[in-house]
Amino acid sequence: MISVQGKGVSTGVACGPLYFYQRAKTTLRRYTVEDTASEWQRFKDAQQKCIEQLGELAEKAREEAGDDAAMLFETHQLMAEDLDYEDAIQALILEEANNAEAAVTDTAAQFADMFASMDDSYMQARAADVKDVSDRILNILYGVVQGGIDSDVPVILAADDLAPSETIQLDKTKILAFVTEGGSSSSHTAILARTMGIPAIVGVGDQMKAEFEGRTAIVDGQTGQVFVDPDEDTTTHLMEKRRKLLEYQKMLEELKGKENVTLDGQQIRVYCNIGSPEDVHAVLSNDAGGVGLFRSEFLYLNCDDYPTEDYQFEAYKQVLSEMGNKEVIIRTLDIGADKQIGYFELPKEENPALGNRALRICLNRPEIFRTQLRALFRASAYGHLGIMFPMVTSVWEVREAKKMCNQVKEELKAEGIPYDEHVQIGIMVETPAAAVMSDRLAKEVDFFSCGTNDLTQYTLACDRQNNDLGRFFNPHHPAVLRLLKMVCDNAHKNGIWVGICGELGADLELTETFLSIGIDELSVSPRSVLPVRKKVRETTVSDVKDSILEDLLGEGNQF
Ligand code: PEP
Ligand code: MG
Repeated sequence: MISVQGKGVSTGVACGPLYFYQRAKTTLRRYTVEDTASEWQRFKDAQQKCIEQLGELAEKAREEAGDDAAMLFETHQLMAEDLDYEDAIQALILEEANNAEAAVTDTAAQFADMFASMDDSYMQARAADVKDVSDRILNILYGVVQGGIDSDVPVILAADDLAPSETIQLDKTKILAFVTEGGSSSSHTAILARTMGIPAIVGVGDQMKAEFEGRTAIVDGQTGQVFVDPDEDTTTHLMEKRRKLLEYQKMLEELKGKENVTLDGQQIRVYCNIGSPEDVHAVLSNDAGGVGLFRSEFLYLNCDDYPTEDYQFEAYKQVLSEMGNKEVIIRTLDIGADKQIGYFELPKEENPALGNRALRICLNRPEIFRTQLRALFRASAYGHLGIMFPMVTSVWEVREAKKMCNQVKEELKAEGIPYDEHVQIGIMVETPAAAVMSDRLAKEVDFFSCGTNDLTQYTLACDRQNNDLGRFFNPHHPAVLRLLKMVCDNAHKNGIWVGICGELGADLELTETFLSIGIDELSVSPRSVLPVRKKVRETTVSDVKDSILEDLLGEGNQF
């Protein structure tokens, strides 16, 4: 048995075969072929497979997000069988005896250059399409399963690290657990794992060896341990732990339908964080009161090009309709930093976490923001929507964003398109600037939602992605908690509500603190709803409040 230690970031015990995540190879092999006819056939087979894959993706997109989404893949299908494109490849293989990979690569470059040099912006955008299609054909030729899991049975997925865009595209039914070399607890892959209820371990470094592929392993997402070829004792022990976890889960089930109320009568709303419309099922099955954070950028991460207004509208409408009367707070696009999207073509930055991200991108590129706001307001007619802006630092940003909301509402009104006049507008408080300015900001909005992942990162000057910072990245730091209290006081003085949607919201060691400082809402991963409810129902706030506040604000705190 080999034991590997990492950091558990999503609890649960899973047992199954190890599978190493595969990325497309990027080194091109060039050689002269002798049998050009069979090389041509090799290309034709790969082209056919590519067309089939795109057809399946188009169908999936149509089911999940409507016709506009499907069209992207259908356009790619047409490109894959375009006669000029095919003729160019054919000439390179049959006449010049190039191997198929070299022929596809050279033709893709030639076509992409040609499109890019055109005046028309629509045609320029086709350069990215031809590259995408060619990459898909190349992956098939190389035999690489791009980002997929080529296994008939569910697996424990090992990877160096996974970008959010890679995680979101995985077939979740095939994943028993994640184990990654890098990453940290508040990285987005860890967040996604918790949302999906999949055990996850990050930061195992180089302990996972390629030769473990296919061997049986047990993952304990609580202790951060992976056992490859586990012995009998370990297997028995962990299977028992799994049984107990399931039992605990069953006990939590009994809290469904009950209120989030303390023993002395203080209520708190417990909502969920989600990343896609498919997560609504988990929100409802865990009996959450609403959605406190829909990370809308995952829609963008899931697309090869800017998602259209209709595509977004369908996704938001789906979430709102399925949630019925329950409140749904959708956060506007928050890309940049660790969430990079190729087609945005953001310039490389020295310090992306401090760079062009989130609301800053939206205010600088209003056409992107406007498309999203139109989709959001159109969807507002189908449920109880709140909209919030991420990464706010100044009052003027909020005013500018609200002005765009008003313009969009005017447009919709003029076009006779229905929307809800009473959509609440809020901001995320996730920068120290927003916390310190919360007295002013509270006058501009209907609610605050504290993003403690970024608030901790920026307050403590600790990169949330860097697992090596260990004890320095401490969201329990009084500097963070004092800011939360300040935000809470300023919100209430101005008659607005305040929630927490960062990962800290689910930290049961702090539930009493949040109740004591008066937080109104906690938005957590679906799996954390019932544990938080249990903790709330066991608390008597009046018993703990004075000592918690003294500890937080008094002189005794020697942190
Ligand atoms: C946060 O920063 O706490 C937050 C909820 O947003 P994200 O994790 O997506 O940056
Ligand atoms: Mg954030």
